[in-house]
Amino acid sequence: MFGLTTAPPAGMKLASMRQNKLTVRLAFSHPVPTPLSPEPEFAVAVRRASVVYPAADAPVRALSEVDLTITPGEFVALIGPSGCGKTTLLRVIADLEPISAGEVLVNGMSPHDARLARAYGYVFQAPALFPWRTVLANVMLPLQIQGRSPQDCRAVALEQLSRVGLQGFEGRYPWQLSGGQQQRVSIARALGFEPRLLMMDEPFGALDEITRDRLNEQLQQLWQREKRTVVFVTHSIAEAVYLSTRIVVMSPRPGRIVKDIRSPLPETRHLGLRDTPEFMAVAHELREALGHD
Ligand code: ADP
Ligand code: MG
Repeated sequence: MFGLTTAPPAGMKLASMRQNKLTVRLAFSHPVPTPLSPEPEFAVAVRRASVVYPAADAPVRALSEVDLTITPGEFVALIGPSGCGKTTLLRVIADLEPISAGEVLVNGMSPHDARLARAYGYVFQAPALFPWRTVLANVMLPLQIQGRSPQDCRAVALEQLSRVGLQGFEGRYPWQLSGGQQQRVSIARALGFEPRLLMMDEPFGALDEITRDRLNEQLQQLWQREKRTVVFVTHSIAEAVYLSTRIVVMSPRPGRIVKDIRSPLPETRHLGLRDTPEFMAVAHELREALGHD
């Protein structure tokens, strides 16, 4: 299992079918450049979504009528105590979990179609790299599955690795890297095919604080540069406040959204911001929201 949700054969078929269609259309119509597909109004739209996990004794209501719309370019943190349904919500958006009721759209498509169209990248809590592939080969894999040329795969993978500060590590194997470096490889891999939407499930949860700070800073800079939509699950108040333009607080039994905080902090951030009164005020508001379950 690698850190991207993929359905290789079906996805490849769809991609090549699309290419064929495009070729046919271009061949028989006026030579007008095809416009890029317009950015949908919502990157993610979740409406009254519920998830019930069946169980022999009592079914678990993991999500109860969750409403959440995310516009392109937002950095949204999902925060809440363990078991409140953060991972379930992310998995629903990623087409890894079916909903029991409600509706979900990702970039204007069903989560399933968004997955086939590779509209998003997904970074799991554990890096989930293939140990027998080098760092470079791990990052190249989803690009190869997409059917891109070997030169293209290599160039994109090298570029993404340098963006996460891993130039020089291309030939190493995952087990030769630290946990933080492995997670950066996962991020490079998830970003390689330029998804509009990046979903991350506690990607830095298992790391020491110093490494986590550094990766938070790198992720923040990455978002600054590219303004991709990010949905980021975390347990950490400081991480949520530092990274996000919006913080969504969840509460368990049943999993639901109890607060939606728009960050008043400036978009450009550095770690020193965490010592400012503005930062502490947001952290305080968030702590209160988490305490008042
Ligand atoms: P979080 O990520 O916020 O810790 P999860 O989304 O993993 O929470 O889980 C929400 C609830 O659903 C929890 O009570 C958990 O035990 C339950 N749950 C998660 N996955 C399953 C599953 N596959 N089968 C049954 N219950 C599950
Ligand atoms: Mg979880």
